[in-house]
Amino acid sequence: MLTYKEAVALILRTVAPLSGEDVSLGQALGRVLSEPVTARWDLPPADNSAMDGYAFPFAGQEAGCELRVAGFVPAGASHETLLAPGEAIKIMTGAPLPPGCDTVVPIEDVKASGATIRLEATPKAGQHVRRRGEELRAGETVLPAGTSLHSGEMGILAAAGAQRVRTVRTPRVALLSTGDELVELGQTPGPGQIVNSNYHLLAARLTEEGCMVIPLGIARDERGDLGARIARGLEADVLITTGGVSVGDRDHVQETLLAQGFELGFWKVAIKPGKPVLFGRCGSTLIFGLPGNPAASAATFELFARPALRRLAGHGDPLQPRLAVTLTTAVSGGEKRQRFLWGTLVERDGRYLFTPSGRQGSGQNRSIQGSQALLPVPGGSAEISAGSEVEVLLLRLPPGAALPA
Ligand code: AMP
Ligand code: MG
Repeated sequence: MLTYKEAVALILRTVAPLSGEDVSLGQALGRVLSEPVTARWDLPPADNSAMDGYAFPFAGQEAGCELRVAGFVPAGASHETLLAPGEAIKIMTGAPLPPGCDTVVPIEDVKASGATIRLEATPKAGQHVRRRGEELRAGETVLPAGTSLHSGEMGILAAAGAQRVRTVRTPRVALLSTGDELVELGQTPGPGQIVNSNYHLLAARLTEEGCMVIPLGIARDERGDLGARIARGLEADVLITTGGVSVGDRDHVQETLLAQGFELGFWKVAIKPGKPVLFGRCGSTLIFGLPGNPAASAATFELFARPALRRLAGHGDPLQPRLAVTLTTAVSGGEKRQRFLWGTLVERDGRYLFTPSGRQGSGQNRSIQGSQALLPVPGGSAEISAGSEVEVLLLRLPPGAALPA
């Protein structure tokens, strides 16, 4: 049986980023550039003032020097005539410098009376001027391929004129729940029935990850229905199934996949929860067969599907960040398989405290609710005492702290 590490390594060897597509900048948030973006023009487009003040050609002016104000140039306008010696022009932040001007004195540093200003401080040649192209030159690379597009990237791309950008395609992920006992939310469960809750957790996680969700409903535990729905799932980039991958009499997912050309990557990983997890591909479609138990399907999604989805979407960091934390309660040892414990993070004096969820049962939706991290506990480890320093896999940011002192 593979270890968690071996299984993830196998997945990452198998998966490559999807193809690129052009999208408008407004659609690009959360995606990854598949091609570099170059600047369409110089930025700033012209030498301009960094302050509201007065511009003039520097000629050794000092504090006490008087200049005649020869005009006014706000942002969005320009002043094309040369200044005579002893003249300055009133200029607003972002306005282009008139020809010959190279120095700006802020409004706060002059005394104005009528059409004359007196310098209160000795200026430095070239001060408070933003040079043409100092941020970007036309044709220069703004952002390289592989850049993840967050809000901070949007400003510079827009400023550089990148109306459309080539990005890695969003993964299309088909979600199929399996189990005769399942009903959809909205139906009242009859005897022995439960709501298909895995769908709702996984669809939400996929949306958080920027994936497009294709719902395939609930397959009955028989090969005909299962096979028909799996066939539809093979049109997606990724098919995620839940349930039916263990050794039960009604666990038909793997054999149904095999009848449709499934190439096995692995079945079963030495972890708890989630041991029966199945991975492989049918043609170009990646397949994740997650166990049905809610906490097991959620954990195996984080551990195996999420790195693959990140890689498909072109992100350079497919794995969760690891965070050093202090354990608040003891964690029992003596388990053969590597465990992953759901838990919460709280910030205390600049450190994070990790508290394992009270309910780790793989059958419980409760284990996951409110969790921000998973604690890997190596197989065969002894008890880990409260106060120990451990590393967790960060799933999402913990709640914010109080106001700083
Ligand atoms: P299985 O992996 O199919 O043997 O299912 C294991 C357990 O998970 C059973 O108790 C199922 O009822 C439960 N289960 C399976 N699929 C789902 C689902 N989509 N939502 C909630 N529970 C499920
Ligand atoms: Mg089942």
